Amino acid sequence: MIDSQVVRLSTLLRRKVSVREELASKLNRKERKEALRDGHAIREPRPCGLTVHPGRGCSYGCLYCYIWDTGVPTKPEPYGLDGLQLTYAIASNPYTLVGEDGTFLAFGSITEPFLPRIVDKTLEYLGSVKRYLGNPSQFSTKSHLKEDQAKFIASIDPSVSALITIPVLKWAAKLEPNAPPPELRFETIRNLLDAGLHVALFMRPLIPGISEVDGPEILKRAAQLGVKGIIFGGLRVTKNILVRLKGIGLSGLETRMLREPKGPRDQVPIDGRVVKELLVNKAEELNLKVYPSACSANVSAHHLGCRMCSMGPCGGPIPEYDPEEVEQALAILGIDAKVVPRGPKIVVYLRKVKVRNARKVKYLVSTATKRMVGIRRLR
Ligand code: SF4
Repeated sequence: MIDSQVVRLSTLLRRKVSVREELASKLNRKERKEALRDGHAIREPRPCGLTVHPGRGCSYGCLYCYIWDTGVPTKPEPYGLDGLQLTYAIASNPYTLVGEDGTFLAFGSITEPFLPRIVDKTLEYLGSVKRYLGNPSQFSTKSHLKEDQAKFIASIDPSVSALITIPVLKWAAKLEPNAPPPELRFETIRNLLDAGLHVALFMRPLIPGISEVDGPEILKRAAQLGVKGIIFGGLRVTKNILVRLKGIGLSGLETRMLREPKGPRDQVPIDGRVVKELLVNKAEELNLKVYPSACSANVSAHHLGCRMCSMGPCGGPIPEYDPEEVEQALAILGIDAKVVPRGPKIVVYLRKVKVRNARKVKYLVSTATKRMVGIRRLR
């Protein structure tokens, strides 16, 4: 947190401009153009922050994975931008703020960040983000990270939030055929903890019928190692995922679909409420903190406080803000706004509601103040 718990949107916007200028001066015209055309410079953050893609594709072949249905290749390829371009792209994104109070960043998403083909790019991106932006960063992985790799990651970004994915034990060889076995992932947890990093267990997806059996043991082992907490994530299935899971003997999941699929690639959530409740109780017995979402672990790793969504509040105190200061900061962007606190939320009234402006205001104000923001028309 900057400014002793009082956040100033104008300071954050100025910082973004100066970081962007510094990065622009290090890139040539072609490199800047490539970065500005890239998705990291354009797309809106997801609930857990902006996803950072050090690569595309994954060779672990997990049968429950949805990326195969989205056209992402199974052969992993590193991302095209270099580290400077990537940070320039993030700093140029209209929806982001940079710095320790800035947009949460989640590394991975459409790849496994520590695959041999991808790992160098991941480390380059992590280093560049830490050096030039300083945003709260997080990665999730199933890879086996040895002691020296864990130490190296900690030397690049000692505050990075690490999520280690272990959803199953006995079924791992069938469900995650090319991923390192759970034993090696427990070793990853130990190595990252020994390196001083904030490590949480990512139990995703919860698979009814399996997770009840394997989950308690996974939680016990993770608690013994000293993880900071756990995030549970549900299973979403497409038609292809159901076929793959049936192929290894996991049938009946279609009866737990929470709605009818809208098409062959539609990801439909599976009802895992009972198994989640059981495992939440187990985690609490083990004194494991249950984070409501991945970003909540990121917030905790960076000693922040957040109330940007209904799952919060998460972490520590939420920063104070001055509505007038936020209005003045938006005026610098040419946006005429009235900022009104509404309990824990903020309503921003805009004189002209252009969709792009409205979304930009929503992200900028929400990220800076770490509160939920609603946009209304000023009459
Ligand atoms: S309130 Fe918690 S779950 Fe919601 S965005 Fe913030 S950190 Fe994430």
